[in-house]
Order: sequence, then structure tokens, then C-alpha cells
Amino acid sequence: MSNIGLKRRNITTQSAEETEHQGFLLGQQVGMGSVVALFGDLGAGKTTFVKGFVQGASSHKPTDVTSPTFTYLHIYPPVYHFDLYRLRSENDFLAMGFDEHLSSDHICCIEWSEKIASLLPSRTIRVHLTHAGDDKRHIHIESPWEN
Ligand code: ADP
Ligand code: MG
Repeated sequence: MSNIGLKRRNITTQSAEETEHQGFLLGQQVGMGSVVALFGDLGAGKTTFVKGFVQGASSHKPTDVTSPTFTYLHIYPPVYHFDLYRLRSENDFLAMGFDEHLSSDHICCIEWSEKIASLLPSRTIRVHLTHAGDDKRHIHIESPWEN
């Protein structure tokens, strides 16, 4: 019999560099096939977090990571970085064949995950970023675990 639980972590960062570092730490921890869903308003720090995440999970330098607003997807093997800000519907995501990456051995991180809420697998690691004034951000990470 297996137990499924949720590990929760709350962090407050005081600068973009600190948020990037938190992304780096998570990037070092995740395994192949992980899906990391990012939630938060414009400017909350999702792309900043992903910069660190990509470096933790691959050999790419953080300067390589930009916001893929016009392309939906940037690939830094094995990390697949989605930005779904301009996505109109879950059907568009499916029509582009992107859902295949969610059940592959790639590591997916997804900005504006709200847009594909019902497509996210149950093993998804959820990262919520919120403004907390000036350069302060709250980061809430929910990681499902099973044993
Ligand atoms: P998003 O992808 O959520 O729209 P970005 O990461 O692109 O957000 O932008 C966040 C902006 O806020 C950047 O300009 C960054 O320098 C700034 N910033 C200030 N403080 C922080 C912090 N603590 N964490 C993350 N970003 C911060
Ligand atoms: Mg962004």
C-alpha cells in the first residue's frame, strides 16, 4: 500500500538573487520526469526562479534563460521551460502536442500553469510566488511524495 502526502515549504526572499537561488536548490533536487508548475502574477519572480532552476537541473548558465513569452517553450536540456501567458486554452496546448512532455523523462517547468490546470499530473510540484512589498517575495512550494 502506498501513502501519498504533500510536503510544504514557505520561504521569503529579499532579492531576485535569493529567489534565483531557491530555484537553483529545487533544480538540484528534482529528478527526470518532474513537472514544476509556477503560479504568480506578472513580476512575481517566476522567470527569475526558473533561471536558477535551470542551472540547478542542467549545465546552462542563468544568463541563457529568458522569458519565452513569444514562443511558449524554450529548451535547456533536460529542462523544458514553458511560458503560457499567451496561451488561449488547454486545447491549444494539446493541439501543439505539448502534453507529451508532461509524461516524458524531461524536466518541465511551466509559467502560468493556471492555463493548463486540469492537465497537470498529480505528481506536479507547485511553486506559488507572491509579491510581499518592494523586493520581497513569498515562495510556497508543495511537493507530493509517495512511499
Ligand atoms: P515573472 O516571470 O513572474 O513575471 P520575473 O522573474 O520576470 O517575473 O520578474 C521579477 C522582477 O522582480 C525582476 O525584475 C526582479 O529583478 C524583481 N525582483 C525584485 N525582488 C525580487 C525577489 N525577491 N524575487 C524575484 N524577483 C524580484
Ligand atoms: Mg515570466
